Amino acid sequence: MKLVWFRRDLRVKDNPALHEACKTGEPTIALYTATPEQWKQHDLSPRQADFIQRRLEVLRNDLAALNIPLLFKVVDDFSGLPAYLAEVCQQYQVSDVYCNIDYEFDEVDRDNAVAGTLSLTRTGFHAFHGKCILPPGSVLTGGGKSFQVFTPFKRAWLKLVQSTDYSPVKPPLPISPTALTKALIEDAKEIDLRYWYEDSVSWPVDDNTIIQRLRDYCSYRVTSYDALRDIPSEPATSQLSAYLAIGAISPRQCLARLLTEHPNAFDDSKQGPQVWLSELIWREFYQHVTASNPSLSKGKACLSWESNIEWKHDEILFERWKQGKTGVPIVDAGMRQLNETGWMHNRLRMIVASFLVKDLHIDWRWGERYFMQKLIDGDFAANNGGWQWSASVGLDAQPYFRIFNPFTQSKKFDPEGIFIRRWVKELENIPEKFIHDPYHKNYGSDVSLSYPKPIVDHALRERRHFPFSKLPRITP
Ligand code: FAD
Repeated sequence: MKLVWFRRDLRVKDNPALHEACKTGEPTIALYTATPEQWKQHDLSPRQADFIQRRLEVLRNDLAALNIPLLFKVVDDFSGLPAYLAEVCQQYQVSDVYCNIDYEFDEVDRDNAVAGTLSLTRTGFHAFHGKCILPPGSVLTGGGKSFQVFTPFKRAWLKLVQSTDYSPVKPPLPISPTALTKALIEDAKEIDLRYWYEDSVSWPVDDNTIIQRLRDYCSYRVTSYDALRDIPSEPATSQLSAYLAIGAISPRQCLARLLTEHPNAFDDSKQGPQVWLSELIWREFYQHVTASNPSLSKGKACLSWESNIEWKHDEILFERWKQGKTGVPIVDAGMRQLNETGWMHNRLRMIVASFLVKDLHIDWRWGERYFMQKLIDGDFAANNGGWQWSASVGLDAQPYFRIFNPFTQSKKFDPEGIFIRRWVKELENIPEKFIHDPYHKNYGSDVSLSYPKPIVDHALRERRHFPFSKLPRITP
């Protein structure tokens, strides 16, 4: 018997571990283990938990069509997994376990512990790369080191990918059923992750809809990605991140579809398909960085000078930021979108992150955790990378300190305030001239609103940027 252990790869298509197990033609079972205590420590959002739970029901049906039953078990945390996997393997006489690798420190540790325990009974443990287009460790500098900056990484990635077989693996063929696999399929019980749930129903989980979303995006909207991707009121980005985060689709499927529609996507022009590919490469970059730098999973910053910064631990300001009540409309619009939907536009993620760190002087780790607790697409590597970049403590080619002016950003990317009005109802009807900064001193005292006044003075904060004062900086 073979066993495929599913984690962040909740799909049947382009799943290397499943593909390899099925290739043997032997009876196969699948397993998903919920680890609620561990997830709590990792700040898994209740919305993503709900999304995973719904997706598991789909996966179970897809696997049943291949005559593979999906077993489900709640084990409090990772420490209980080696014993549980050993027990299952013994119960079903499993000779080999197959899985796709997660690159975060605790996850690597988990797999090492499980592999070690299984080796005592000579059960094979086979781990594959299914999370990236090119596996971590394969894109290296001429000196064989990991890249620390995105642009050279991208250049090397583009060169390597074109000499690699990056096509998705073939969908597995059904395995011959046995009395046991048939009985296990019939015995399927309701899946309950024993975690908090927050409604994720606006994100469909069936394969047809997800694949159609990718197809539609690559055939139409991607062509205007370069022009519109920074405008939060436009549906210009793919909104595929939630699916990539739990592995409901793979990055190879995304690349394959993009190239089918735009065979020139690898060239170095700055058109929509090329820019979208660049974002997929950012995703790869952060996965590779996470894999090669375990200290990131332990809360460390990439740049050592961060340890000299005295962050403020102001719970009151933090609460106002979380609730979208900072008095800075574009920040509040972004935070309210996050709180209500579990997703936030990338431009706004950068603006609200910069505001928390550079205006409120609050530790970026607080923001990083809050995002994970709320996001439907929460993914350690992308989130940690995004926060470290925004806090200017991460892997950024800029040798200066980047401070976003939220009012300038607002005027540039939401000029008519369409997005702000959508999420900040108190400002729905105010004239366009007030929308970005309703209490600006030049407007006099004629604005009377239920909307809060700004909790900090951006200009003052920028000038008195005490923790960072020794660094050259710019204001984009
Ligand atoms: P598209 O614009 O359509 O891009 C396609 C795909 O590329 C995305 O689905 C995503 O997988 C990847 N991608 C795009 N931009 C980035 C990026 N900057 N870094 C890494 N991958 C990227 N993304 C997450 O998936 N999970 C997170 O937890 C997360 N946290 C973030 C936190 C901060 C502070 C910042 C600044 C960014 C964060 N991002 C995160 C990256 C980015 O904001 C989202 O991936 C993007 O908004 C998702 O929308 P989309 O699917 O429409 O993206």
